[in-house]
Amino acid sequence: MISSEYINLSMQRLLFILILGASLFFLFNACQQDEPLELDQKEYPNVDQKLWVYFERFEEEGLRHGQEIDLIERGITATIEPITQEHVGGLCNYFSNHANQLVIDDYIWANTSEFQKELIIFHELGHCYLFREHDDRADSDGFCISLMRSGNSNCIDRYNASTRQAYLDELFNP
Ligand SMILES: [Zn+2]
Repeated sequence: MISSEYINLSMQRLLFILILGASLFFLFNACQQDEPLELDQKEYPNVDQKLWVYFERFEEEGLRHGQEIDLIERGITATIEPITQEHVGGLCNYFSNHANQLVIDDYIWANTSEFQKELIIFHELGHCYLFREHDDRADSDGFCISLMRSGNSNCIDRYNASTRQAYLDELFNP
């Protein structure tokens, strides 16, 4: 009796360890699938989770530039998926009967720098939220003066840590 109870106990313990191990394995893998989110990250319904941080940053930058921006209230949606047009990183689809829709190309998203990601999202929100059109003007050195430059312009992109503020000033207060 004693020995079989002992075996049962050991089996139970082993089972427990196996279940715990399996749970941790699945939990770990589940966590690996999405990029880690800040605990206080604002959520945007119908927006790909990878874009939430950029949406919130756009609202914060808008506020710093005197504009109260509420992307949730406007209901803008966003997906990351293949865009068939070549060299197009993002699109804003305008709708008269429902909220505007951002589409970000999955390949470009996966292969671009942090600054380029922000540039793409802010450019598309420039269309979708601020209703800005393209601005292909260049300064005397040939650099684009706006994040709203089109894909067809000849101006040179210079969005980086030292130029970011000037570009955001132009974006929110053209
Ligand atoms: Zn555009």
